[in-house]
Amino acid sequence: MFNKKITIAIQSKGRLYEESKKLLSNSGISFRIIENRLLTRASNVNVDILQVRDDDIPSLVSNKVADLGIVGKNLLDEQLAGDKSLSVKEIINLGFSKCKLCFAKPKDSTTESLNNKIIASSYPNLVNQYLKQNKIKADVIKINGSVELTPYIGIADYICDLVSSGATLEANNLEATETLMESEAVLISSNDVDDTNFFDLVNRFKGVINAKDSKYVMLNCDESNIKKICSLLPGSESPTIIPLEQKNKFAIHALCKEPVFWETMEELKENGASSVLVLPVEKILN
Ligand code: ATP
Ligand code: ZN
Repeated sequence: MFNKKITIAIQSKGRLYEESKKLLSNSGISFRIIENRLLTRASNVNVDILQVRDDDIPSLVSNKVADLGIVGKNLLDEQLAGDKSLSVKEIINLGFSKCKLCFAKPKDSTTESLNNKIIASSYPNLVNQYLKQNKIKADVIKINGSVELTPYIGIADYICDLVSSGATLEANNLEATETLMESEAVLISSNDVDDTNFFDLVNRFKGVINAKDSKYVMLNCDESNIKKICSLLPGSESPTIIPLEQKNKFAIHALCKEPVFWETMEELKENGASSVLVLPVEKILN
């Protein structure tokens, strides 16, 4: 597997680290990361893992030091907006580290718009792009850390920062106003690269990501309820319908690619399903 070596750059520590490692190991790559080591060699496949700061990943991929990289879309778009020589593309969304880049202001602030305000952000290129697109005149100052404190030390009216649960905003008495972008971790490669080299590995990643929300559902029902029940199975393409020994009784087996909630199961039951089993799916290879 993987005839030519594939080098993949991941964040060495931080918010992307654990999920990036999990994606690699769930994709069948065995490795043991040693702290502070830049390079880890997989023990079972031809894959090297580069552990670096997330800020360095787009340029390492652009310069083909790494074939693939895992970064937040927020960071990628910020760097693409600021550096026209960066030649990278998103291959797939990875479904983790979901957050939003939001404007926020102190709860007791009476300002109504961003016009003529000072905005502190670690994403000055994205903020300036947004202001330009929306024809807003405002000053942007670049702050690398603790952006949420800037309104209280008098250097900004607004901030533009990443928000996930909103707990940091709440703890600093800030409220979100508009959202600049939604973000999640993405897999990137260089723009001009022969992607047949990592096609199989990307397929494995897709298999892990697709399986995350997927469930295998099995249930029994009367013949008259089959159509209705199939229409209620979330994200299932073509369920298997198997006759049971008992007359007019059938089993339906389906791969549901969208979450199956208790409410879904209750609705299935109300429509004549019995013995509803929901099983986890580990991997999917399409
Ligand atoms: P490094 O030391 O590698 O430069 P960092 O401090 O710049 O790390 P982290 O705080 O670890 O970066 O965040 C990395 C990425 O995780 C962000 O670019 C973003 O995509 C995502 N992220 C950041 N904050 C959150 C959050 N609150 N919830 C979910 N994902 C987040
Ligand atoms: Zn960083």
